[in-house]
Amino acid sequence: MTLNLTKKDILHILNATDSEITRLMLKTAKYRENNLITYSKNVFIPLTEICRNDCGYCNFKKHPDDPDAIILKTKEEVLSELKDAEKYGCREALFTFGEDADSEEAVRLKLAEYGYERMTDYVIDICRMTLDETSLLPHTNGGNYSYDDLKCLKEVNASMGLMLENSSSRLMELPAHRKSPGKSPEIRLETIENAGRLKIPYTTGILIGIGETREEVAESLLAIRDLYDTYGHIQEVIIQNFTPIPGIEMEEWREPSFLDMIRTVTAAALLFGDADVSIQVPPNLNRETAQIFLLCGADDWGGVSPVSPDYVNITSPWPGIDELERLTADAGFELTERLCVYEKYMNSEWLNDTLLENISSISWHR
Ligand code: SF4
Repeated sequence: MTLNLTKKDILHILNATDSEITRLMLKTAKYRENNLITYSKNVFIPLTEICRNDCGYCNFKKHPDDPDAIILKTKEEVLSELKDAEKYGCREALFTFGEDADSEEAVRLKLAEYGYERMTDYVIDICRMTLDETSLLPHTNGGNYSYDDLKCLKEVNASMGLMLENSSSRLMELPAHRKSPGKSPEIRLETIENAGRLKIPYTTGILIGIGETREEVAESLLAIRDLYDTYGHIQEVIIQNFTPIPGIEMEEWREPSFLDMIRTVTAAALLFGDADVSIQVPPNLNRETAQIFLLCGADDWGGVSPVSPDYVNITSPWPGIDELERLTADAGFELTERLCVYEKYMNSEWLNDTLLENISSISWHR
């Protein structure tokens, strides 16, 4: 069934009050194919904490002069973390790190020491090592990439990701993104579109509470839906709430209201209701309220790690798998593990033989 929601329809959901919210939430249940809620057991490995951007909500990036900064992990360090993660039963190697880190001299020097010129070449080798020497599947989320770089990364990644954040250029003038050229929505939409052209199973999403209007939320969700309709590569859409953390530039900003999150998750669930695209809400950012999002149509908890912290949201620890299971069951659903690439993409149209062989050698709890 196609819902064909227009911008006006989405705005109606985003502005809903009173009993209308409950009615809309209930409507999402119609589009559920089953009562399964998925998660991916991962290890989060930040290859570098250096980033050319400077987002007002960032709690991850460090300055190269910071003695605690990870300038660039060695292959040996990464392999050791991957091997540890294997022991915990992790299936996904999430490589998330600052964008264009090699624009900083400190990173270029490390790359040269390791025998590389460009960060992307190093990432490709790290992913290849992951496939060759472990049972984990790489998922790289390292910011914007050119078409040619994505083409190389596709060969060694089961899936990739990039948060759109928001499709409005207006946010480039606000504290959220005014010092972050890489957060230009034109560039990010181009990266996501190139991933579609290259048939890369892809994760994206929006960030709520960084100064956007409801109209801009609606436009962002529609932009993602358009890309999905054209290329079919969006496997999940993350609805992430801004969290004020002491020390960040936006520490005084209010977080989005619980109701705004409910409305946005409901809108996304209805917009993608006919599309076989998961709606994901990070459980660690909504510890007390996570369950309600399942009732709004969310069907995925995203990556959850038994072994590493969420470095991007360091003050928000992931719940344990047991706790996640309990939260999910308490809301009337069943928790089930998935891989970082969804089943519908596990074929030669989307993945090369090496990735398919690695996937087929994995047995995971389903
Ligand atoms: S949020 Fe991401 S892109 Fe923005 S400064 Fe931090 S690491 Fe860089």
